[in-house]
Amino acid sequence: MKIGFIGLGNMGAPMAHNLVKAGHALTAYDVSAEAMQTLAAAGAKTAPSPKAAAQDADFVITMLPAAAHVKAVLTGEEGIFAATAKKNVTIIDSSTIDPASVKAFAELANQNGNAFVDAPVSGGTGGAAAGTLTFMVGGSKEAYEHVKPVLSAMGKNIVHCGDTSTGQVAKICNNLVLGITMAGVSEAMALGEALGIDPAVLGGIINTSTGRCWSSDTYNPFPGVIEMAPSTRGYTGGFGTDLMLKDLGLATDAAKHARQPVYLGALAQQLYQTMSTKGAGRLDFSAVIKLYRKEGNT
Ligand code: NAD
Repeated sequence: MKIGFIGLGNMGAPMAHNLVKAGHALTAYDVSAEAMQTLAAAGAKTAPSPKAAAQDADFVITMLPAAAHVKAVLTGEEGIFAATAKKNVTIIDSSTIDPASVKAFAELANQNGNAFVDAPVSGGTGGAAAGTLTFMVGGSKEAYEHVKPVLSAMGKNIVHCGDTSTGQVAKICNNLVLGITMAGVSEAMALGEALGIDPAVLGGIINTSTGRCWSSDTYNPFPGVIEMAPSTRGYTGGFGTDLMLKDLGLATDAAKHARQPVYLGALAQQLYQTMSTKGAGRLDFSAVIKLYRKEGNT
């Protein structure tokens, strides 16, 4: 397939790399010249604008920080729509953005004669590099079937969630659970420490009891409980606090539009906001346990 790829960051670069490895003809664009050089070395063509990257493409994939970037890349003078009018190109947005923006972009794409699917991912940078991401796809059944072979070069779990924007709904709801459970496990682990139990023993009990969850058994925030967790290497790598904060912001905004309460999500958002304000935005989000542990213990 001829694929245009826009956004070669921590996720986009390894994803684009895997498309090249799978034999697709890739034309890539990023505002960062350095990011483009790395991909050119891997065998992709580079382009001077999103428009040029989309010029001859069957599919265009965007992997950008937020909705404002996606809008600029789609609708700008040198944007994707300027190259794809009436060409029946399929646009896949894998960025994590709000469902309302997705609906607006899909409508604009359709007016331009292009199909549009939202296909946000989970699996992090490790999954992007290994080609094992989960894609949560929103769009028609036909669009899903059409994009599945392309997404399969970057992920191992390609799920049709329903109509346009339901991919983002799935992503946002999952990360709402994750943000809350991490805060909950942090609270319990810090309480256990304060009450004098060995954290490794407590972690082991939780992980074989009803409190067990991913935040405890795979990513436990207490250092040393899980050897491979970011907490054991100073909260480096992993999923940044600022990214969790962004996703909880998407959840609480979407909840406001839907007039739906998110009591715990709103509180969790404030916890990660506090971490960010304290300068810990780049630490893994499990560092939220630092808000609970006694001075001198962290
Ligand atoms: P990133 O900041 O590392 O990469 C974004 C890239 O977009 C950068 O290379 C930047 O130069 C480029 N960019 C910005 N504006 C642009 C423009 N106008 N035109 C072209 N390129 C532009 O972000 P990331 O970690 O790769 O995340 C991308 C998306 O995936 C985000 O929406 C994020 O929430 C989501 N996500 C990230 C992870 C993760 O673990 N990093 C996991 C799942 C989902």
